[in-house]
Amino acid sequence: MLILLTNDDGIHSAGLQALAGQLQSFGRIVTVAPDRERSAIGHALTLHAPLRAEEITKDHWAVSGTPTDAVSLAIGGLLKEKPDLVISGINKGGNMGDDLTYSGTVAAAMEATLMGVPAIAVSLAGQSFKFDDFANAAKIAKQLAATVLEHGLPADTFLNINVPDRKPLGIRLTRQGKRIYEDVVVENRDPRGRSYYWLGTGNLDFQNLEGTDFHAVQHGYVSVTPLHLDLTNYAAMERLRQWQLEASPLDLDDAGSSS
Ligand SMILES: [Mg+2]
Repeated sequence: MLILLTNDDGIHSAGLQALAGQLQSFGRIVTVAPDRERSAIGHALTLHAPLRAEEITKDHWAVSGTPTDAVSLAIGGLLKEKPDLVISGINKGGNMGDDLTYSGTVAAAMEATLMGVPAIAVSLAGQSFKFDDFANAAKIAKQLAATVLEHGLPADTFLNINVPDRKPLGIRLTRQGKRIYEDVVVENRDPRGRSYYWLGTGNLDFQNLEGTDFHAVQHGYVSVTPLHLDLTNYAAMERLRQWQLEASPLDLDDAGSSS
């Protein structure tokens, strides 16, 4: 068994180390992760700069790029065989609702899925990040990894797992919830008197809907959401058919032309 671990918090993160510790009995565990924190980098891929990969200790690689770079480089180059599973995490902080689109943790699992390798993303919700919470989350990751390896995942699907920062009560199969963002941009002055701005400082809330990832974690459960990469809104497609777009002639005349 070959398992690839990665994350977006960087190679030295406690979550990654807790995960690696728990999974030793599965077989060969190879870690390929960004050499520094790359949280909120999303699915970014480095195309216009070289990547460096340093094997810090055996099967433990620090990559100069993003989580997506790390997975792509590992599966396409560093590993001589395809891994049986990719696990991304354990992220310092939940990845639920609309936040998924920003998440480097989730994007790494996404990249593995694109490359045909089963993947799960694991995040520790909350803000305390105590050693025991990472240890619990790592045990849950191990249990769910074993289940995925036993059953296999549906095509083009990966799992997004969020663990509460207290002893979990059980597992809930969930759908992606909805964030309520309060976009607060904080403006301040640097010592030279120039303005600088800080994003993401507003209160983060979510719609309290039963069956969602947020709801499960808030009530003390491990949230397991199956995700896929098809972003098509099929219900909207039905509505858009009424616009008759495909029957509309194209208007390619320059605006304001006299003809
Ligand atoms: Mg992170």
